[in-house]
Amino acid sequence: MNTSNEVFDLAIIGGGIAGAAIARDAALRGLSVILFEKNTFGSGTSSKSSKLIHGGLRYLELAWFAFKKGEFKEAWKNVCFVLSSLRESVILERIAPDLVKPMPLLVPIYKNEGQHIFAVSLGSFFYGLLAIVLGNSRFPKLLWSKQSVLKVLPNLNPKDLVGGVIIWDHVTNDQSLVEETMRSAARHGAKTFEHTFVKTYTYHAEDQVYALAVEGDGKTELFQARKVVNASGPWVDKVRSQADEKKGNLIVPVAGSHITLQKFVNHSVILRAQDKRVFFVINVGDVSRVGTTERIYSDPDTLEPLEEEIEYLLGALERYFPAQKFAAEDILSKDAGIRPLAKPKGKVDPHGISREHEIHIGPTGVMHILGVKLTDHRRAAEDIMNRISREIKREKPSVKLKTSTHQIPLKN
Ligand SMILES: Cc1cc2nc3c(=O)[nH]c(=O)nc-3n(C[C@H](O)[C@H](O)[C@H](O)COP(=O)(O)OP(=O)(O)OC[C@H]3O[C@@H](n4cnc5c(N)ncnc54)[C@H](O)[C@@H]3O)c2cc1C
Repeated sequence: MNTSNEVFDLAIIGGGIAGAAIARDAALRGLSVILFEKNTFGSGTSSKSSKLIHGGLRYLELAWFAFKKGEFKEAWKNVCFVLSSLRESVILERIAPDLVKPMPLLVPIYKNEGQHIFAVSLGSFFYGLLAIVLGNSRFPKLLWSKQSVLKVLPNLNPKDLVGGVIIWDHVTNDQSLVEETMRSAARHGAKTFEHTFVKTYTYHAEDQVYALAVEGDGKTELFQARKVVNASGPWVDKVRSQADEKKGNLIVPVAGSHITLQKFVNHSVILRAQDKRVFFVINVGDVSRVGTTERIYSDPDTLEPLEEEIEYLLGALERYFPAQKFAAEDILSKDAGIRPLAKPKGKVDPHGISREHEIHIGPTGVMHILGVKLTDHRRAAEDIMNRISREIKREKPSVKLKTSTHQIPLKN
């Protein structure tokens, strides 16, 4: 690596979408940056997602439920989350049109699933309106009859089908998004390394620098930086404990699995599983990606999809595509990842935990970034870099206080 004498402005632990976005933002602001990834870029959760860049119709539904219960603050929080995610979708499509593409999603409505066609249509209409206000030009399409839905997706179960809506979100190639963001960071001066494992970090108060012990190529080297961001996603608490930071976890590790089948729908679709949880069938090239599930699992190094998760997904599909017989042998591939969700105060069901990112400052000032979604990675990086750049600017006046990641194409 041969950079061990330099004191970097910023060291980043983790080369997923969060680390890549922070490295890019920091480099564009003029900071000297070094990033360590223990495996390969994007090999963690960031390549195991549903591949959606989305505002999340589900959060609008959560906002509505909170509003009905009189929890106005919670309702507003969810609306704001949808708004900022939709804004990010527009920005990402603009800066990376090859990687973030608009995608129509069918939401069929069934009589026996507790949804009313009016409520879903109104929600989708509102979702579309928000997207348009934020710069998206595509409006949802309401499908008022069973026949109009079956025209879009002929192999869907017609029993109790009453109508549907087509909304617009975006689809991406998550692995390529990480790699492209990392390449852009490197082009702007960030030093980014794969197969480098951060064993620990210590703060030297007299020099106001951190020393990071990094293992790579069979040896351990020390690197110095003025600021450290722990962007190791599901490994955040493992990294903290290696550095002897206070015990107690900052994240709730919510694992989720996907299966991939030969393409069997001609339109991507949002459905509800047997337990009323939302799941997606997303067409990616000539395959359909089906997911996801939710369970608590804390060790990202040993995570695998469980048999019962596969059965759950196949069972969910069978309800909607009864003519198609799905069997384990039809599965082309399966994968699992962990959502590194910021741990809320008190006990909360995993499904209800906020998907908004959070920044936690450790006892020596290391910044731990939690719960970064693929969708909001650019905004999360902007948030953390707004804080860091203010501090670094005192020593280095050339550092820019404002981000430019929303303007500069990812290919640059
Ligand atoms: C099933 C599932 C579906 C999802 N679908 C979507 C979706 O459709 N849309 C969306 O917006 N979001 C989605 N998400 C959320 C999103 O994918 C994640 O929140 C996001 O990818 C997390 O990125 P990250 O960079 O924080 O973590 P990661 O991608 O896991 O990156 C962390 C990196 O840190 C590295 N690391 C760990 N320890 C060390 C160390 N000591 N030294 C060096 N490197 C280290 C790891 O190897 C890893 O590469 C989904 C999540 C899951 C689980």
